[in-house]
Amino acid sequence: MDRKQVLRIYSRFLDKNNHEKEDLIVKTLSILERLAQVVKKHPKRIAFADLNKNYTYIQLWQGISGVANKLNKEFSGKNPVLIYGANDFDMLVAMLGVNAAGQAYIPVDEHTPDSRVRLIIDSSKPVAIIVVSAKNMDDFNGKLFKGYPVFFLEDFDYQSELTTISLEEAVRGEDTNYLIYTSGTTGAPKGVEVSHQNLLSFTEWMLCDFKSIEENQVLLQAPFSFDLSIFSLYPALLSGGTLVSLSKEETSNFKKLFERLNTTEINTWISTPSFVDICLIDPSFTEKNHPKLEQFIFCGEELTVRVAGKLLEKFPNSVVWNTYGPTEATGAVTSVQVTADLLEEYQRLPIGKAKAGVEIRIHDPETKQPVSLGEQGEIVIVGDSVARGYYRNSEKTIEVFGVIDGKPAYYTGDAGRIDTTGQLLYQGRIDFQVKMNGYRIELQDIESHLSSFAAIEKAIVLPQMDYDQRVRSLIAVIVPKEEVNNEREFGKLIREGLKGKIMDYMMPARFILMEEFPLNKNGKVDRNVLTEKLIEQR
Ligand code: AMP
Repeated sequence: MDRKQVLRIYSRFLDKNNHEKEDLIVKTLSILERLAQVVKKHPKRIAFADLNKNYTYIQLWQGISGVANKLNKEFSGKNPVLIYGANDFDMLVAMLGVNAAGQAYIPVDEHTPDSRVRLIIDSSKPVAIIVVSAKNMDDFNGKLFKGYPVFFLEDFDYQSELTTISLEEAVRGEDTNYLIYTSGTTGAPKGVEVSHQNLLSFTEWMLCDFKSIEENQVLLQAPFSFDLSIFSLYPALLSGGTLVSLSKEETSNFKKLFERLNTTEINTWISTPSFVDICLIDPSFTEKNHPKLEQFIFCGEELTVRVAGKLLEKFPNSVVWNTYGPTEATGAVTSVQVTADLLEEYQRLPIGKAKAGVEIRIHDPETKQPVSLGEQGEIVIVGDSVARGYYRNSEKTIEVFGVIDGKPAYYTGDAGRIDTTGQLLYQGRIDFQVKMNGYRIELQDIESHLSSFAAIEKAIVLPQMDYDQRVRSLIAVIVPKEEVNNEREFGKLIREGLKGKIMDYMMPARFILMEEFPLNKNGKVDRNVLTEKLIEQR
């Protein structure tokens, strides 16, 4: 049966309320075809709510149609489209509109430094750029996107009454759905290429294995340029739920954040553990004040016993999930429900068991061979969640992507082991990647920018941990080329220089100067000794 037949049959069944067959046929549809059915069933439901405005499913579809129809006229082929803007409804429309036109989207936050945006453009060579918003639209400098066709929202027949679009061209199957750029060791970000099939597998898992809630109001906290955002976006939209979106202004101002949360009726909370830890400061963040908040889903960094325990104390009847996965394996691939028993049993919470379609293996990082059961090694993810690789970057792709038993595999760089109950335990990194407040940072990314400064001979960036063993800040240790008279002034200049090159959250809190780094017996900089020295100096 071809897709057109499936669609025809599907719409017949929809009207007849035959749920069993409906389910069966829905499974063969693409993400946008499923969204089209939700729009048809619930046109007036709220799809997206921010502080100021609610947007219905029909408004979402009108926007998608406007973007897709225009792009279909202008371009063909499967090259990606870069979308530049904030975490708002318009950006969502642009992303889905691009997919409806058959292209992959690259979400880039408007707060990304220009030089980094340029690296992303140079690496992805987008067929077009859509500027949804810019930090200062009046001052918008098109130079950044020189050489590429640029569209603004006004270019699309955006609020058109036209709601029918052909999804014949839309992204489906093994097509690339999106590219998300993450920190890279060389200073240039890497674009993880995620297929429609990867995303569909993730979305189905979320809809099947987690608590299903009618008219689910789902928190959208993560920027679209981070893969945590897909936890909210696709499961909410494909089940007719509402995305309750927080702006950057709200997430970066506690007062505004707590005020806004108190006006929402969120059912499913999705965030990093660091974010909920901030919300737990607010005494009104309790089950009594948020009786509809039934489910918490965490990913992106370690969920500590302290944070999970505090949360269960404040929301004793809710379901709390710890999930684990890198952008390279589409959102998450393992999950475990955190209960009071689990908190008793483990000092460091497990990250759970694999989703359907995925197998977790533990390999020796040197030999790349499986270790014995229960032994520690590198976590390797095998199966249908593993992304294609890094876009136009075969060198980096070969380093960490592979094939095991005929299935795609990703070598995560995470250390872990599987315990006797089958739970996967996370045990840190085997390289220099860190997570700070949920943000993924390659320390070498910052180091390579520092080393490019004329005044710096070499530089090392070290994480500073808190009592929970979480990274609280970064310290840059620098060997200058020439003697420095005013260390403070020097640090200030370096900070200024870094500003246009790295994301805000990557900025070291301190710059410390040294004459030479301690070396280990292999002649490499001994980061452990350096860390101890810094602790002594404090
Ligand atoms: P990202 O690609 O930004 O999602 O970051 C992926 C990395 O975050 C993983 O490789 C882990 O190092 C870390 N991570 C994600 N989820 C968890 C978790 N539940 N517990 C511990 N670390 C996690």
